[in-house]
Amino acid sequence: MTSYWAAHAWLPDGCQPGVSFAVEDGRFTQLQIGVEAGADQEILRGVLLPGLANGHSHAFHRGLRGRTHAGGGSFWTWRQEMYALAARLDPDSYLSVARAVFVEMAQAGYTVVGEFHYLHHDQRGNPYADPNAMGHALIQAATEAGIRLTLLDACYLSGGLSATGHLPLDPVQTRFSDGDVDHWQSRLDQLGEFDQVRIGAAVHSVRAVPADTFGKIREAAGQRPLHVHLSEQPAENAATQAYYRRTPTELLDDHGLLGSRTTAVHATHLTDTDIKALGGTQTSACFCPTTERDLADGIGPARRLVDSGSPLTLGSDQHAVIDPLEELRGLEMHERLITGERGRFTPSDLIMIASEDGYRSLGWPEGGRITDGALADFVVVRSDSVRTAGAHPDQIAYAATAADVDQVVIGGQVIVRDGRHRLGSPAELLTTALDQLGRA
Ligand SMILES: [Zn+2]
Repeated sequence: MTSYWAAHAWLPDGCQPGVSFAVEDGRFTQLQIGVEAGADQEILRGVLLPGLANGHSHAFHRGLRGRTHAGGGSFWTWRQEMYALAARLDPDSYLSVARAVFVEMAQAGYTVVGEFHYLHHDQRGNPYADPNAMGHALIQAATEAGIRLTLLDACYLSGGLSATGHLPLDPVQTRFSDGDVDHWQSRLDQLGEFDQVRIGAAVHSVRAVPADTFGKIREAAGQRPLHVHLSEQPAENAATQAYYRRTPTELLDDHGLLGSRTTAVHATHLTDTDIKALGGTQTSACFCPTTERDLADGIGPARRLVDSGSPLTLGSDQHAVIDPLEELRGLEMHERLITGERGRFTPSDLIMIASEDGYRSLGWPEGGRITDGALADFVVVRSDSVRTAGAHPDQIAYAATAADVDQVVIGGQVIVRDGRHRLGSPAELLTTALDQLGRA
């Protein structure tokens, strides 16, 4: 058993002084507030936050960072570059890239990641000898990096949607598709769970999955988390309206896909009816602020969704940035820009969104908070850096960046100490992995 003390810690009811706790069997225990440090306790050097959830990730998109800005364009031109990268990956290079990215995440303060996984098959679209070779590469990568993983295996069946219906797959998309829902489900059912790995389901989008399969997908998902890209771009809404005469949200609602186990990723371009449907079913909405601004997606109705009943979560999606504090701040700052008001979310709201609500959306309801019995996942943010010196402990999330993360503990295991991941430098791991991929 290890015992810790922090001068300030974020507990479910806010930032508290003099917090003492122990970790036993991977869980918090003996939590006390307003106490002095004991002689045998490890003193944490900064403000203690609960574990932070990365609600939406495509690990391999990290290979596009800093490489897609020369030609202008849009989400759709960016997607062509993403497809070119997807076409080059195999299980070995997928493992190297994902391991480096998960190490970068853990060092930045993420303690659990939801990997929205659609790159399943070989370059010709045929299953590998192990049909989950790519998923198993992600599981190995997360396990080595020490980060919790929810592998959200995505059903992907069509090449897009037009006014006349779903389009055939283009060559690179054949890697994503299992052909039909039954083959997707059988592959999903072969994925095993481990101590720090859980399995979830995903509908890639209403573009890539015809609505007449949604009932089967809902049954296949069962009690697992179910994630879906939703209304990231106006073109998706237009195509869905043209073919189905419904918004994407209405289409999911018609088929019973909304609910408290479902997370709508992005939820950017919504109607009033959509917001009511998402909130009324307690569907979570995962915002990805640094990606949404990078891809010129727009700013979704975050506050209105919360007011309607939808919990929010945060993700780094394409990893133009990997920094949970920047995502958390981005949510509030985008709201400020479109409303002319500060404090659309309180600091407590933002921490809850980044931690407990994210954990629940990824199928870890016993984590993301510092309470007795919860998973012992936590992050220590230095309060004496060039960015954070002078900040109030209860406002440190508005000042700190991932560079201020000093210690990360996941399931009681120290994964990051003195700002360094136990596997070494993520920069070196990324350079090696991306150099190899560039030569592939
Ligand atoms: Zn995504």
